[in-house]
Amino acid sequence: MFMCICFISSRCPHKPLSVLVVTMSAKESKVHAFVRVKPTANFPQDMIKYGPDNKSIDIYIRRDVKKGVVNNKQTDWSFKLDGVLHNASQDSVYDAVARDLVSQALDGYNGTIMCYGQTGAGKTYTMTGATENYKHRGIIPRAIQQVFRAVEEHIDQSITVRISYLEIYNETLFDLLSTMPHDMSGDTHMAVVEYPQGVFVKGLSMHPASHEEDALNLLFEGETNRIIGEHTLNKNSSRSHCIFTIYIESHSRILSDAKYTASKINLVDLAGSERLGKTGSEGQVLKEATYINKSLSFLEQAIIALADRKRDHVPFRQSKLTHALKDSLGGNCNTVLVANIYGEAVQIEETLSSLRFATRMKWVTTEPAINEKYDPERMVKNLEKEIVLLKQELAMHDSLVNRSLVNYDPLNEIQIAEINSQVRRYLEGATDDIDIMNIRQIQEVFNQFKVILSQQEQEVEARLRNKYTLIDKGDFAAITAAQKAGLVDAEGHLVGEVDGQGFGIGVAPLSKPGGKKVKAKKAKEQLSPITRKEGLGSPVLGKDLDSVSPSRSQLVTSAKDLDVKEGLIREQDAASIETHRSESVPKEESHRPSSPPAKLVAFEEFKNERGSEINRIFKENKAILSDRKKKASEITHRLNLIKQEMDITKQALGAQKKEREEQGEYVNEEGQIIIDEEEFLLVMKLKDLKKQYRCDFDELRDLKAEVQYCQHLVDQCRNRLISEFEIWYNESFLIPEDVQEAIKPGGNIRPGMIPMNRVLCLDEDEQERFDRLQGEVLPACPDSTSFYNAKMKTDQKHKYFRAMAALQQMHKKPGLITATVKNKPPAALHVI
Ligand code: ADP
Ligand code: MG
Repeated sequence: MFMCICFISSRCPHKPLSVLVVTMSAKESKVHAFVRVKPTANFPQDMIKYGPDNKSIDIYIRRDVKKGVVNNKQTDWSFKLDGVLHNASQDSVYDAVARDLVSQALDGYNGTIMCYGQTGAGKTYTMTGATENYKHRGIIPRAIQQVFRAVEEHIDQSITVRISYLEIYNETLFDLLSTMPHDMSGDTHMAVVEYPQGVFVKGLSMHPASHEEDALNLLFEGETNRIIGEHTLNKNSSRSHCIFTIYIESHSRILSDAKYTASKINLVDLAGSERLGKTGSEGQVLKEATYINKSLSFLEQAIIALADRKRDHVPFRQSKLTHALKDSLGGNCNTVLVANIYGEAVQIEETLSSLRFATRMKWVTTEPAINEKYDPERMVKNLEKEIVLLKQELAMHDSLVNRSLVNYDPLNEIQIAEINSQVRRYLEGATDDIDIMNIRQIQEVFNQFKVILSQQEQEVEARLRNKYTLIDKGDFAAITAAQKAGLVDAEGHLVGEVDGQGFGIGVAPLSKPGGKKVKAKKAKEQLSPITRKEGLGSPVLGKDLDSVSPSRSQLVTSAKDLDVKEGLIREQDAASIETHRSESVPKEESHRPSSPPAKLVAFEEFKNERGSEINRIFKENKAILSDRKKKASEITHRLNLIKQEMDITKQALGAQKKEREEQGEYVNEEGQIIIDEEEFLLVMKLKDLKKQYRCDFDELRDLKAEVQYCQHLVDQCRNRLISEFEIWYNESFLIPEDVQEAIKPGGNIRPGMIPMNRVLCLDEDEQERFDRLQGEVLPACPDSTSFYNAKMKTDQKHKYFRAMAALQQMHKKPGLITATVKNKPPAALHVI
């Protein structure tokens, strides 16, 4: 069972238009083989015997006859076939061999009949017959007759018939109908070519035949040409293979169906199968005999291969004959072989050979299948009709559901642009929804989402490229260069790469317990994969600051950098508490790297060492904050539950009260309303719930205040950590050593001067100032917390920037360090 759909090239000589071919499911079948015995007066009855069912033939060779006749030890042979045609008329041969096959061809199945046998055994007689005697006409004229009778009978079918006649002689293709006018244009060079739907002979003329006579004329024309060729080209007709083909195309006259069937009947008169040794030919004849033997033995090889199911390759292309018959032998074709034999003892050797060939053919399986095709023009017309009908249906449906003016035509450029802008507005939040109009519009909306997404991706990439040097993972040259520069490790991973990402902020591996020297070296090697053009991770050398342009040497950490670090801190909050090293190696002992490490690599180191205390406090504060937040959320949840319970109780009380009023209230002597126990319990429950609610509410309020406070502390710590780190980083990697020397204890700055990192902490603590402000301002305006928080953060940032700028100035004028430090008011350098 198989189904194939394919488009045939318009260059196919047999069908100028592209055609969709669908081959329907096929049923497996065997090649049928018959043997036809040429009548003779000397039929060796003791040598050739037929089975009682006329489907087998036995050969017996007496020893004395065997001597000198066959050089074979076996003396008896039995061949099983589909029929033995002995003394059979042309008529009965046709019925046995061809009638069904032709009839099936009219239903769309391909069919092939081949005559095989030694020269003179009756192949041409069987296939073409005596052209001068109607009664003795062979399979071809009879097949033509059957086809045209069917054409007349099938009035519901429009059947077209075309004919071609091919001769293969000495591996050369001859068109036996080339003398007839035909509509083939262009290349007449003949060659066997394969198309998905079958094998064709390119350049072979095809002739339409509207009547039996037309077709017979073509047959006779071909026969004449064959004989002429024999004389003029010195061909020996017994050495050539002839293939007469009837092409049938059947369209339904009733259905407007684009589907039609197209089949062909190959009627093959093979060359004489006699052995070369027996011919004793020389020269031209020898060449011919060699070719004949070759092509027939290739035919035999192909048949053996076809019969062997384990073989997946069949050598069809070895000869023109097997190539041309490729789809007639193993394909979706009904195939019949007639082995023509002499009924004479003297020819017994060739007879045996032909019978062997015939039985081999019987092993070959084929899968006859109807060749259904689609007429593209008709198909388009049918589809157009269908579209018109469906549009009408749609219009009717729309009017039934009051949807008017919906256009189902393909969208034009303006409509697409409108959808694009709608999607953009949606993404920007300017509009909340996009109305659904029809499928086309929905598809376009999605399409525009895709378009915008890809545009944005490109923009982001362009921006990144503008800012960073990105290395393409597939660009091996760039990776090699980067490896040389130390930006990429040996495995091709970008240094500091996280989760195999192409680029990103690097996270340094945990410091090895090998002292700062090792770490400093590592940090130096592990430069950020993103070679920033400014700021974070800039490979600016501390000693080369003078030569660097102001923008490149800017030491300011941008707000974005801070965000990145905050993100990092948050990420690491979840991590287990790191082991702190109690002692950090003194700065003096460290080997200063020739270029600064990536900031985030250094940040890890800083947190473990110089910043370990503040990092610890930061983490503790975070833990407290998270705990308080969790508690607040629990209480909120509890409050909601109490509220729900209160509502239910109130409802129940309402119902009780209503019932009581309906039944008439009971009042005691003091004028008090008496209620039943159930109502009483509800009243008490509500009272308890209210109390609990108030209690929890108060607790929540306090907790919220606490959360706010803790949050503030955490933010404070975070800022502090970052600021301290920046200072440490600049000191360690960017501030020239001479400046460091100067501000070191015992350096050339006069006694009383405070080392750089200490100078930065002299001013009123920001927290203190904030607390003071809170004390002064907040009682009057309690809602101002966020405002002041923000203000404080901005102030901190600006101060930090100023401090960094001042440091840079100091570096540019080393001689003025003391004065600068001396003259600058400490507040200007204050950094938290
Ligand atoms: P082949 O094509 O195999 O070389 P032909 O078909 O040309 O052989 O036959 C050789 C001769 O034998 C022809 O004259 C043909 O008419 C005659 N012949 C072959 N088979 C029969 C047959 N079954 N009945 C009568 N004559 C036959
Ligand atoms: Mg012949």
